[in-house]
Amino acid sequence: MRYSAFAIVREALRGNRHWAPVWREPEPKPAYDIIIVGGGGHGLATAYYLAKEHGYANVAVLEKGYLGSGNVGRNTTIVRSNYLLPGNLPFYEWSMKLWEGLERDINYNAMVSQRGVLNLYHSDAQRDAFARRGNAMRLHGVDAELLGRDEVRRLVPFLDFENGRFPIQGGLRQPRGGTVRHDAVAWGYARAADRRGVDLIQNCEVTGLTIEAGRIVGVETTRGAIRAKKVGVAVAGSSSRVAAMAGLRLPIESHVLQAFASEALKPLIDTVVTFGAGHFYISQSDKGGLVFGGDIDGYNSYAWRGNLPIIEDVMECAMAIWPGLGRLRVLRHWGGLMDMSMDGSPIIDRTPIHGLFLNAGWCYGGFKATPASGWCFAHLIATGEPHPHAAAYRLDRFATGAVIDEKGAGAQPNLH
Ligand SMILES: Cc1cc2nc3c(=O)[nH]c(=O)nc-3n(C[C@H](O)[C@H](O)[C@H](O)COP(=O)(O)OP(=O)(O)OC[C@H]3O[C@@H](n4cnc5c(N)ncnc54)[C@H](O)[C@@H]3O)c2cc1C
Repeated sequence: MRYSAFAIVREALRGNRHWAPVWREPEPKPAYDIIIVGGGGHGLATAYYLAKEHGYANVAVLEKGYLGSGNVGRNTTIVRSNYLLPGNLPFYEWSMKLWEGLERDINYNAMVSQRGVLNLYHSDAQRDAFARRGNAMRLHGVDAELLGRDEVRRLVPFLDFENGRFPIQGGLRQPRGGTVRHDAVAWGYARAADRRGVDLIQNCEVTGLTIEAGRIVGVETTRGAIRAKKVGVAVAGSSSRVAAMAGLRLPIESHVLQAFASEALKPLIDTVVTFGAGHFYISQSDKGGLVFGGDIDGYNSYAWRGNLPIIEDVMECAMAIWPGLGRLRVLRHWGGLMDMSMDGSPIIDRTPIHGLFLNAGWCYGGFKATPASGWCFAHLIATGEPHPHAAAYRLDRFATGAVIDEKGAGAQPNLH
């Protein structure tokens, strides 16, 4: 069923009783050409591009819970391509370009909203670093504007510009950045992949990887063994656990990241703002709630839930940038499980096991990467060769020293 304005009118006249299910619920087949482990944004996008760009229809996505139950449905929806390093910039800009055409491509309203992303700076040194980043972006054809204090004040007048510790001096803005409705991305890619014949198997946890003579030949699951010629792993915060099934130890730590949503307000803030002196970012959802978040937990965990110390930390940052938020009622908060790599950049690569491919290390920035990650991972799985935009995301870069340390924080995952 194609979605259109005409379909909305037609179904409204028919009492909305004839909408087709968004995807099928197939039983797993005994064998597939390609299995993708993980039905998050990256796994679903990979399956879609495998079918669309490379002509593979005999593909299954195996998801241990329900589609979109992981980070793809838990993030703060921010998309941007304001990176500095050559390994990252072309990849994230390619992702922005795919976001810009996504809704037409998959015939699904993902609520792509290019409302701009504004990173605040609070010192001369930080302004210089942002100027350098903005210049790197512009050299790569990415939009960037360095704003002074008055220009920022015109955009977001309610911030605390005179804050005693962190006065706002200005900001680096990417006008094409913004937000995308997170779970609509999962549903949209799922529907589009399903329409091209991909089997989406929910409640199917992969419990083992079957390897014969150094080559992957299938997976063990809670719904039985399934054979496959190739397997792609895209399980975000569970990457190290699934890789361990193949005897691999990854340069990844898992940490919890939390997010918060307030009661609904009238339209108040029409861009994304990030605090430059702490870790805090905020935007307003189309339902009116303010959506915000901050730092990850400083210790490793596989938990998927929030906790009190980070709430205090995030609220302190919120009050430092925007004291008016103290009047706000927070409705809910939640946690997701982040796959933090040692240099803060992702991995899209082959593994030492023939036919087993890895997509991991997205830290807390993997939502914006969803389209490009799926595109490049599909290319890698289909052709066996890295896509040029993702060529730097190699697994062996931690051995060779070719790391992509965007923040310059060193090998400490919780600082990236
Ligand atoms: C609170 C929060 C805020 C964030 N904010 C942003 C943001 O504003 N912008 C941004 O770019 N990024 C953000 N991120 C990061 C982003 O959400 C993730 O990097 C990205 O979603 C990870 O990729 P994914 O969608 O494929 O992961 P997921 O949706 O987590 O998908 C992985 C899937 O694998 C499944 N799985 C795990 N183990 C198995 C198994 N053994 N068998 C089968 N299935 C399995 C899981 O159930 C899960 O559904 C945020 C994350 C969180 C938690």
